[in-house]
Amino acid sequence: MVDPTERQIVQEQLEELHRRHGSSPFDDVVSYYPPEAEADRDLFGVAGTNVDGTCWSIGDCSVRFPLHSVSKVFTYALALEDHGRAEVMRNVGVEPSGDPFNSITFDEANNRPYNPMINAGALVAASLVDGFDTRDQVGRIVDRYRRYTGNPDLDVDRAVLDEQLANNDRNIGLCYLMRSLGMLHGDIDRTVEVYLSACSITVTAAELSVMGATLANGGVNPLTGERAVERSHVRDVVSVMMSCGMYDAAGTWATEVGIPAKSGVSGGIVCVLPEYFGLGTYSPGLDVHGNSVRGVNLCRELSETFGLHVFADPAESVFGRIAQPGLPEG
Ligand code: GLN
Repeated sequence: MVDPTERQIVQEQLEELHRRHGSSPFDDVVSYYPPEAEADRDLFGVAGTNVDGTCWSIGDCSVRFPLHSVSKVFTYALALEDHGRAEVMRNVGVEPSGDPFNSITFDEANNRPYNPMINAGALVAASLVDGFDTRDQVGRIVDRYRRYTGNPDLDVDRAVLDEQLANNDRNIGLCYLMRSLGMLHGDIDRTVEVYLSACSITVTAAELSVMGATLANGGVNPLTGERAVERSHVRDVVSVMMSCGMYDAAGTWATEVGIPAKSGVSGGIVCVLPEYFGLGTYSPGLDVHGNSVRGVNLCRELSETFGLHVFADPAESVFGRIAQPGLPEG
């Protein structure tokens, strides 16, 4: 267990980062979902959950917001469970596309979307979630997400889903194109509804950090002890977060922050530091890539402050020493 004094040190550092980045201006903000982005512009929450169950939360950590693209991670994990790695890989790749999240580009050499973290690949992953009908598929997704968060009441926000279904030509277009190319099979309305239902599940920053911690903990929720995903799939999921999780800014993120992560256009970011902890941030102001401005800035500095980059010199890892007291002092 994290020592209470050390927990307090981390809490104070997080408060300081939250204070500093909470006032960063939104000069670059691009809003893909205006009602959310404008109404909630000033919200800013950051929460961390250690694999031993220690929790940190600063700011607006109990405000609910739709997962949007953050859901892609967890739906992909379920597709892997339902069909296994080889079959999923045949249908969706793991290469960064370098293009925006909603771009209409495909891995033509392999006749599949580039990766499951952009819309094309996420739609294919959603179509691979087993279920008798749409309701059954969505029910299985919700059930899984409940296990990741430990919240038995987690659910799809119907108003968010309806709004997305009504403004969805691009995803439908992508599906028709993919089906015509043989990359996607089955009913398109059903696939789109399953995908957008997952996007419309609402969480808090605190819950998001537990979802991250569950992946960091090999698939077992550290607060409830319940398994959300088989250990054998965690590596594939976290790898694709590292290479493709931050849209067309994924390479910069990997270099500067170096923590597997996934963002969504409602302003959430989930980070997974394997064997250590999960982080959830929420701030709706977005940059040109569709990533949360404050979330990205905070994560960058957090990674530097605590030496969290997965390839950082272990001697620089303050958090590593706190989370694993056996490590030598740097
Ligand atoms: N629901 C959104 C969409 O498919 C998710 C996009 C995102 O978060 N980047 O357009």
